[in-house]
Amino acid sequence: MLRRLLRHLTLGCTLFALLAPLSAGPAWAAADIGPRILALEKLGRARHAEAAQALEALLPETPAHGAQRLELLTVQGLMLAVAVPPEAMEASAARLEAWGRDAQAPNAAAAAAAAILVRARSVARDGKLQRADLMMREALAKLPATVAPLDRYRFVSVHGYILDKAGQLEEAVRQNHAALALADAHGEAWQQSEARTALAYSYYGAKQLERAHSLSLEALALATKADDPVALGRAHNTAGIVLDGLGDLLGELSSFQMAIANARRAGAKVDEVRYLANLADFFLKNGDYKTALATAERALPLARELKDPNTQMVALANIGLAHISMQHLELGKRYVREAIAIDEARGSVTGVSDTLHELGIYLEKAGDAAGAVAAYHQHRRLATTVLRDDQQKAILAMQEQYDADHRNRALVLLSRENDIKAEQLRRRDLQQRLWWLLAAAAALSFAVIALLYRRVRRTNLLLSSSNELLKVQGERDPLTGLANRRQFQAAMRQLAADGKLSGTVYLIDIDHFKHINDRHGHGTGDAVLVEVARRLRETLREDDLIVRWGGEEFLVIVQSLGAEQVDALAQRMLGVLDHTPVVAGAQRIAVTASIGFATFPIGPDLLRVPWERAINLVDTAMYLAKAHGRNRAYGVRLLQARDEAAFEAITHSLESAWRDGQVALTLLQGRAALAVAA
Ligand code: GH3
Ligand code: MG
Ligand code: MG
Repeated sequence: MLRRLLRHLTLGCTLFALLAPLSAGPAWAAADIGPRILALEKLGRARHAEAAQALEALLPETPAHGAQRLELLTVQGLMLAVAVPPEAMEASAARLEAWGRDAQAPNAAAAAAAAILVRARSVARDGKLQRADLMMREALAKLPATVAPLDRYRFVSVHGYILDKAGQLEEAVRQNHAALALADAHGEAWQQSEARTALAYSYYGAKQLERAHSLSLEALALATKADDPVALGRAHNTAGIVLDGLGDLLGELSSFQMAIANARRAGAKVDEVRYLANLADFFLKNGDYKTALATAERALPLARELKDPNTQMVALANIGLAHISMQHLELGKRYVREAIAIDEARGSVTGVSDTLHELGIYLEKAGDAAGAVAAYHQHRRLATTVLRDDQQKAILAMQEQYDADHRNRALVLLSRENDIKAEQLRRRDLQQRLWWLLAAAAALSFAVIALLYRRVRRTNLLLSSSNELLKVQGERDPLTGLANRRQFQAAMRQLAADGKLSGTVYLIDIDHFKHINDRHGHGTGDAVLVEVARRLRETLREDDLIVRWGGEEFLVIVQSLGAEQVDALAQRMLGVLDHTPVVAGAQRIAVTASIGFATFPIGPDLLRVPWERAINLVDTAMYLAKAHGRNRAYGVRLLQARDEAAFEAITHSLESAWRDGQVALTLLQGRAALAVAA
């Protein structure tokens, strides 16, 4: 829930300092207006209505078609675009548009771009993120290169915010980095702080928690230096979210409390209600359901009053999850569904998917296994859609960034080796010709010629094997050395020539891996992944395909096994994981996994399905194994489906289909689970 609760935009100083110069009237020199606009922009983050009005009063003092009028209208428009009602920004946007249409007017192109910026921010506020992103691309394309750096900062930071919310993490990181550079070069300390908060948040989204953490600390330091409660609130809030990711509960709690106190000091209601929702989420996750419910219930009316869909959504979800945890299942589900409906209406697939995942977790904890599986499955399907398209690519690309250096070095070494071999080959070639000469001249025996030929061939072989290695390196997951998705897809093109899979598929998902990261740190988490990969490799044969499917998920595809071998292999994989703890430094970490598996074509009708569907089924079986206690493997032995539609329907309701006898499952338990059962 934390993920979507966030910082908001640039839109503080004391009103006193602002109003004093206002009363001095139009005698103000143009040069003094810039700082006053900026001061009102700062104020507007907390009290937008007041600040927008003060800007309006300042308008006559800015020269028509001048850069300062443009800045004023842009700042005013942006602050109203995050406010309610949505039409409030209309006047600023319309003025900018009219200006932009007047081709003769100075700064017309920049005004046209600013009009789009203001509208894009308003569209984003309503959750229409894809559209907002497209609009921002247009605005940035229209923005003249000559525009002042702080004006550009407003564009770039809004775009970074939109990209982040839209889940386009890689691009969000890039834009937020650009915004940070502009803020550092030209902005005030509060802007520098907020630019760091935004970037920290994007890194958090990209699961780079250490970077996110150090950025949030920098943001706090700058906000403290500026003594700016709005920026302090935002920095504390983001720090809390990042500390949540890092498993620092006390830090997280005090960060949210500090965030709330600062928002209250600033009079920033929108911020305050969001931080309240985060605090509710904190209590929820830490089992204090009563306080969670009370906190979320405090946030909801405020969110409704502010008409902020994001916060309403979170408050509703938190109220629902608290009820579910207190065994008010139906009431709870109703609240969560209401929350999901808000995200659906906003077209936020990521939002819906995240809430479904949480719903699954809470239903599972509350003992509603069927409800949990249904929620998990819906979550997975959405998550795969989102991830397959762009987010996963972005996250993987970032993870790879860390390892790219290492891998590049390996590649450089390899290609250097290849150069050497090519050189050797050339020399051999010369040598060979010499030998031929000698042979011809001395009329040497056939034996010499055969020897010569063998040597050349060996060098060629060496060269081609190292080329193979180069190719494989590019296709490996950098952390574990297993195949990555790209290689998997290439393999699918071969193994499933018609798109339909034959063979046995195992999906292995480490249990409670997040706890391992939380308790022992990401580095140790990585070491566990490496060790799990090693054990799997050891258990399987050379020609079995082992893929790092996601963060802590592995996909194994094995050709032609007998039915008993299929089960035995699943049991062996459970065993190699839970038999011996993973040793990382001084730690001994118990690792278990849940596995889903099935052999295709699948009986009794020997139905063949595209590999995506096959994996979907195995994935659902894996979730059943999770919901039924983890450290177990569920195999789909038989599935009564003659066509893909029936297959799909059964996949979606696997547990009830199993009860109805449409599906036969094999249930295997790991040793620890067996020991508990015994
Ligand atoms: P479950 O038993 O339900 O599978 O719980 P889980 O905690 O394993 O599952 P969840 O999907 O909630 O969390 C997976 C975690 O894996 C979250 C993510 O931070 C972590 N992760 C993903 N990739 C990596 C990685 O490359 N290294 C490390 N250390 N952690 C990773
Ligand atoms: Mg997982
Ligand atoms: Mg897991």
